[in-house]
Amino acid sequence: MIKTIIIGTGFGGLCLAAKLRERGDDNFIILEKASEVGGTWRENTYPGAECDIPSALYSYSFAPNPTWDFKWAKQPQILKYIQDFAENRDLLRHVKFNQNVISASYEAGQWTIKTANGESYQSQFFVSAIGQLHVPAIPNFKGKSVYKGASFHSAQWDHKVDLKGKAVGVIGVGASAAQLIPEVAKTAKTLTVYQRSPNWIINKGDRPYTRIEKWVARKTPSIARLYRFGIWCQGEFVIWPIIKGAKIRTKLAKMASQWEMKKYIKDPEMRAKLTPDYPIGAKRILFSDSYYPALARENVTLETQAISQITANGIETRDGKFHAHDVLIYATGFYSNPFLKEINVTGLMGRSLKEHWKDGAYAYLGVTTHGYPNMFMLYGPNTNTGHTSIVHKLEAQVQHILKLMDKAGEGTIEVKSTPEKAFNDNAQKRLSKLAWAKIDASWYKDGDRVTNNWPGSSTEFKRRLENPVFEHFDVSS
Ligand code: NAP
Repeated sequence: MIKTIIIGTGFGGLCLAAKLRERGDDNFIILEKASEVGGTWRENTYPGAECDIPSALYSYSFAPNPTWDFKWAKQPQILKYIQDFAENRDLLRHVKFNQNVISASYEAGQWTIKTANGESYQSQFFVSAIGQLHVPAIPNFKGKSVYKGASFHSAQWDHKVDLKGKAVGVIGVGASAAQLIPEVAKTAKTLTVYQRSPNWIINKGDRPYTRIEKWVARKTPSIARLYRFGIWCQGEFVIWPIIKGAKIRTKLAKMASQWEMKKYIKDPEMRAKLTPDYPIGAKRILFSDSYYPALARENVTLETQAISQITANGIETRDGKFHAHDVLIYATGFYSNPFLKEINVTGLMGRSLKEHWKDGAYAYLGVTTHGYPNMFMLYGPNTNTGHTSIVHKLEAQVQHILKLMDKAGEGTIEVKSTPEKAFNDNAQKRLSKLAWAKIDASWYKDGDRVTNNWPGSSTEFKRRLENPVFEHFDVSS
């Protein structure tokens, strides 16, 4: 029997695979729905796609890349990094491509994983590494299906559509939109940006690394590590306190955002429309040098009236105005909840994970849940962050999983329900005091609960994940 089946070849799945190989464990496969590795960096190819965490931190600590071209690397370079990583670590021979997993069921110490094309695999351990943001969400606007022009989601960019000379509408102004709008604005004849709620945006201060900087990073790994540590400190000691509501840092961050806006947006009425009415940090703080300059362009219009319907040729807003568009781009985010939405997971006694999580997803330290022995999640419930690198956190989750696998040996390991409940109750109590809870809806939330984000610092995350409390688990041989 296969020892471990991993689903997904993004940063999480490949990290676990590399660490298994480092231990001399070759008995695993990775099931990948696409024909290439890369996860979100394979799927999001929209113009302007780039990292929103500096790449020195948004990369594996054990596989530094001294040749990043920019501080915040562009999508093609991140995709190449992850693809080279898979190749250099000889992981590709473990990957089974075009395997869209539809179900995973547990019985008598064995997981059975089935794919859409009829394949079935059995394993001792089952690890989901499918990420939190991979199911594109397109709102069901009235009339959407009658629209005659080209339309697509930001994560399903149609590169055959030439935007040159076109009247384009972009719906949504989140992290994806903030990156693609400046690029679309350069090409399109006109661009209308449909904003429902504005974001707090802070200047990135991006620039290409010089040849000397790259040389230093290559020749002196200790300096590169120190630099990475410095970036981590900014997230941990500047942004995280803002999410906790630290007064002075919050005020300074808001001032920085307003300052940036004022530099480019001269019309006070427009500035008012672009100023959020919710606490900074409640939604992802966006980092951009080019968003406000793009909105200030002659060919760009900010539309804050709600969309009442989509017609054959464009968009009608609630004030009765019609906006003609040749192309519509949905930068409207992803279904982040429920977790593992597309996979029918059943655990002990055939209990469905959908039923288990009917009131919202939760898991012990985001990795294991009672009733599902030998099942682990990478980037599971309450593991996301608003202030640091997911890759950094994935490494801690991988260490946690490896330790649990060692403890299970040839048998099974399952988190007990009491410590899982205690963890979850405590997490929700702490989360309710953070900025994320102070807003009605965002992709971090499922109803009233913040289901996606970790309630503490990344220091705490690393410490707790890397030091499992084995008394919280039942182990059987
Ligand atoms: P998002 O942050 O969820 O933004 C979706 C946008 O669509 C929001 O402006 C939202 O408005 C709008 N929207 C949704 N439904 C709407 C409706 N019915 N009518 C009008 N507007 C609607 O999605 P995203 O931009 O794809 O980003 C998601 C996450 O992905 C980010 O927070 C970030 O963590 C990650 N991301 C990372 C990178 C990177 O590192 N390079 C890049 C992109 C994304 P409301 O705000 O009013 O709901």
